[in-house]
Amino acid sequence: MLFELNNLRKSYGPFQALKGLTLKLDSQATGLLGPNGAGKSTLLKSLLGLLPFEGSAQVLGMSLPEQALEVRRSVGYMPENDCYLPYMTAIDYVSFNGQLCGLPAKHAFRRAHEVLFYVGLEEARYRQLGGFSTGMKQRAKLAQALVHGPKLLFLDEPTNGLDPAGRDEMLELIEDVKTRDIAIVLSTHLLPDVERICDSVMMLNEGSLVHCGPLDALQTGEEELIEVQTHLKDQVFKEHLEAANFEVVSEADRLKVRVPSNKSLDDLLRLARDKDIEIRHFMPERLTLETAFLRLLDEANASPAPEA
Ligand code: ADP
Repeated sequence: MLFELNNLRKSYGPFQALKGLTLKLDSQATGLLGPNGAGKSTLLKSLLGLLPFEGSAQVLGMSLPEQALEVRRSVGYMPENDCYLPYMTAIDYVSFNGQLCGLPAKHAFRRAHEVLFYVGLEEARYRQLGGFSTGMKQRAKLAQALVHGPKLLFLDEPTNGLDPAGRDEMLELIEDVKTRDIAIVLSTHLLPDVERICDSVMMLNEGSLVHCGPLDALQTGEEELIEVQTHLKDQVFKEHLEAANFEVVSEADRLKVRVPSNKSLDDLLRLARDKDIEIRHFMPERLTLETAFLRLLDEANASPAPEA
């Protein structure tokens, strides 16, 4: 099991940043989503054992805070903020982080070469980080997160500040990391990144859990929307559909039809056949992650926050 949280709460003074998270999650790649201030970074730092919290949490079967050291040896963390001294060379930075994660100095130095090569910084490994471009800094941060061979990687906004090409390269690297049997938690507000990398989603809003589960489930609406196009008879079919209690929500280009809960797609096809209407295009619409995300946030904001 990747995570098992039970009523996890975190306060900064009187402010409650995490309001009692309870979940079980096992997934190869998880998107951690939520608007700014939702508590994503606080959750990642709590799950690394870097912040004290109330309630209980297990990461990869290890309990926090008791096994915080073991957790940090098994988990790599790419923080959102730059976390290095600008005059450090890439090789020193990465091997120093390897030592902080428990590797002996010689081993950390060898691994630092390997991971800097892996992220494409082999030529720049003896250069000072202060002179790196944003893309290079992000790669160096990824390298330090991988240096100790973690089983799980926390990535906090890894594509922040990158241009489209740099973003694509970073996502390619993350996809490659995924193939190496390393589980990933990707914290981001960029929903397309989550759609590309992740198979599950944890969604936070104002410190509360809004959704936790497979990405697919989030993208399936409770009521189906179907795109339909007929052979020259869209307007006629629209009238038949409405008479049969289907809701036509849009008629630009193609008809977009909401199937009510007491009807099925078969009913829609049967109606077309009975009215002698030839269907040319018939496509159930998947919700985009963005639509699903906004809908869940609306629902969360409309209902009162749970008591901690
Ligand atoms: P996210 O990563 O989703 O943007 P954070 O976990 O950084 O959210 O922050 C969650 C909330 O906790 C925010 O309202 C933030 O202002 C507050 N917060 C974060 N760190 C601290 C801190 N060290 N002291 C006080 N408040 C904090």
